[in-house]
This record gives sequence, structure tokens and C-alpha cells, in this order.
Amino acid sequence: MSPELCLPLIDTHNHLQVESFDRDREAVVRRAGDAGVACALVAGGSPLDWEKCVSVARGARWCAGLGVHPLATASAEVTPESGEILRDALRKALSEPGSPVVAVAEIGLDGYVAGLDWKKQEEVFASQLKVARDFGLPVSLHVRRSVDQVAKWLRRIPVPGGVAHAFNGSEEQARVFIGLGLKLGFGGAMTYSGSRRIRHLAATLPLGSIVLETDSPDMPSSSRRDAGALRTEPSDIASYLGILSELRRVPASDLAPVIYENSLNAFPLMRRILGARTQAEGPER
Ligand SMILES: [Zn+2]
Repeated sequence: MSPELCLPLIDTHNHLQVESFDRDREAVVRRAGDAGVACALVAGGSPLDWEKCVSVARGARWCAGLGVHPLATASAEVTPESGEILRDALRKALSEPGSPVVAVAEIGLDGYVAGLDWKKQEEVFASQLKVARDFGLPVSLHVRRSVDQVAKWLRRIPVPGGVAHAFNGSEEQARVFIGLGLKLGFGGAMTYSGSRRIRHLAATLPLGSIVLETDSPDMPSSSRRDAGALRTEPSDIASYLGILSELRRVPASDLAPVIYENSLNAFPLMRRILGARTQAEGPER
């Protein structure tokens, strides 16, 4: 997409806090701004990175989510009591002025990685859904090979919306999630011509249910893979808008405002962050 077009975009899921961004995080954020990224959700992985998540999100003037990633359940330090640790951390983070925290993220279940204790995953996930419910916060969900099981828990413990990130389920499963009030996140996987199912969903699902995400530094697009530059970054979202525009045969300039609103509807507190920023910057001269 041409930079002069600079449509307002939101990266609804990344991990800007991780070490691979330590050496050039400011430049990454600047490039995202140049590509039109107005805001992003920096998703946490475990109690070990929550503080950094919040400070990195503050530095970028983006938003943060705190949560325990399902893969982190492999650590003995993560227990079902992690939900209570999350509760305390959220209480503290949300009491700070101008808190960037807008979601419980990244949480969910992983049915792909071998050797994880499924029961423990479910306990840790359920405990965090209760926290999200109690705080009235939306969630960013990891649903890799676990869509039905995640949906089952959401029916038991309803939360106020959010996003099924990197959605890779069937059309029927997509409709179940939409029915549960969730948006579906599309990103790098959509750029591969072989990702038939994902591309079909991105092309045909109701537009109101779609948001874009990079999951950076992960999920390289086909062009990144070809170039051998595997670290993704939030500015990549502009090219994903381009792909979505091709798939849906709708101009990017028509898609962008809808996707932007979808993202804010998924994470309503993001509006406050964007609004506060506009106020601080004052009227345009
Ligand atoms: Zn992620």
C-alpha cells in the first residue's frame, strides 16, 4: 500500500515486548506509524513479561493485554493459581493513570504442541476467563487446534468479546465464534496461496467479524518467507489489508474504516487510549 494513502490501521495482536525487538523497538514503532498503524494490542505471555508489556505499550502509545499463554503452562511456575496472580496484576495495572491495559491476552488452548498437560491448560485458561469476566475485559484467544474446546469454555464462562487470534478453523466454527461475540483475526497465514481455507474465510465471512493482526515477531507472510526476513513487525499490517482487499475484491480504502471500527469494537478501551492521544496532541494546525 502506498504510504501516502496511510489508512488508519490497528494491529490487534502482536508481541512487541519480546527480546527480538529490544535492539530496534523504537524504529519498529516508527515504521508502523508511517504505515498507518494508529494502535495495536501488545499481548502478554506470562507473569514474567507483563510489566514489560505495559511499559512497551506505553512507550509506543499503544495498548496492552495481560495473560498467560497456553504454551507457558509447560512451566512449573504457571499453575491454576496464575489466574489470581493475573487478577492482582490487572487490579494494579488498571489503577495506574492512563493505563494501556485493555484486554486479557494471550490466553487459550493449544492442541498442536505435543507434551502439554491438557488438564492444566484448561484450568489455567478457565481461571483467566473468570478474571476477564470479572473485570469486564475482552480477550485475545489462542485457538490453535482447539477451536471447539475454546468455544466450550466460552459458553461456560462468557466474557465481553474480543478476538480469536490467527483463526484457522472451519466456516462453521467461525460462525460459532461470531455467535459468541468474537471477531476473527487474520494475518500472515492469509498471504499464502495454499492457505485455501483461511483465504476463503477472509474473503467470505461477514466483514463486521474480521480484524487484522501480525502476531509479530511470528507468522511471516509469504513475501517475508521468500525474502528470508522472517521477523514480522506491526507495519506488515498494511500489506495484509492489501491482501484482504484482493481477496474480497473491495478497495482497501473502503475496507480500512470498517476493519478499524471492528478492532475498536473488539477492544472498546482502545478508544480511550486513542481519544486521550488526540486530546493531548490538540487540534491540528
Ligand atoms: Zn500471539
